[in-house]
Amino acid sequence: MRQSIKKLVEISRKFGKDKNYTIAGGGNTSFKTDKELWVKASGYGLANITEEGFVRMDRKKLDVISSKEYRKEPFLREREVKGDLEKACIDKGKRPSVETSLHNAIDYAFVIHMHPFLINAILCSNDVEQTVERLWGNDVLYVPYTDPGYVLFKEVEAGIDIFRGRNGYCPKVILLQNHGIFVGADMVEEVEMIYTGMMNDILQTLPSNARSLNFSDLPFELEYEVSLPDEFLKSKGLLFKGRNNRLIERFSRNRNEFSKISAPFTPDIIVYCKSNYLFIETSIQQNSLAIENAIVKFHTENGYFPKILVLQGMGLVSIGESEKQVNTALDVFEDQMKIAWFSDFFGGQHFMEPLQINFIDSWEVENYRRKISG
Ligand SMILES: [Zn+2]
Repeated sequence: MRQSIKKLVEISRKFGKDKNYTIAGGGNTSFKTDKELWVKASGYGLANITEEGFVRMDRKKLDVISSKEYRKEPFLREREVKGDLEKACIDKGKRPSVETSLHNAIDYAFVIHMHPFLINAILCSNDVEQTVERLWGNDVLYVPYTDPGYVLFKEVEAGIDIFRGRNGYCPKVILLQNHGIFVGADMVEEVEMIYTGMMNDILQTLPSNARSLNFSDLPFELEYEVSLPDEFLKSKGLLFKGRNNRLIERFSRNRNEFSKISAPFTPDIIVYCKSNYLFIETSIQQNSLAIENAIVKFHTENGYFPKILVLQGMGLVSIGESEKQVNTALDVFEDQMKIAWFSDFFGGQHFMEPLQINFIDSWEVENYRRKISG
């Protein structure tokens, strides 16, 4: 057992550090025996996680969540489920990941959940079903988009049952549309093999000149080349940071390219970058008052200041309250661009739909409200 937890920590760090697999400490991992489950606690990033970052849970109590009747209203229901999750914790004082029940439902010792952009390029594309079928056929379970939380868990659980009936075993790979992937196996080595194999399968379908995953930097002097309204932003307690590279250059070229990244692909992107982004045309880039007006107009329309500005022909800018926040938003939005870049090869970009975005937005508001009232 000690040995298995050590392996869980090792593989979590390895995947957590690899930007091809996850960004901003996203994703989560677990190990289980028949009776207990160790799952990543919320608030801990995978890249430097230690044993401390996992919560030990009672699986019998987790099973209760599957059969219990909860209230219909989504936010009240999520609160009840959260209460039951807390009851299942053997270690107190740590919050288990909201995706814990999914980990519990997958019948393998190790489960690694990631949001790799290459896999999400397929999961956020128009041809998702045909592509999954063509590449992996009946070996994987594909689940169309469902709002995160309890409903997603029940949907996946039902999918696992059907898969098991058809194939005679629990799926090792579960693909969630506009979200990410779960891989389970009894050995960590097998989890790694499955991930590497799937990444290779995808790369093989791309034209050979499109297989590079690296987009080198094209630095630019933000203060010098664009007149951002820095006094205005400062007065709002906001700072900003810019970035450019071959990837960003493409999607900031014109409004048509911008339209391919103009809505979120996954709930994670909404958490860090919100769901609307501001395109700043070349014609106003030297006019800081015009940029300020565009930002104010955006605020009026959306109720928040934009976290992401796309400067035509220039690059990407993130606005936020701290250095850490803007760096994370830049990483996450670059990941959004990578998804868009590669989904071109699978029938084009498929964003989250307005109702789905709305649910995440109100969930965020709900969480925030609870945080300050608690
Ligand atoms: Zn996830």
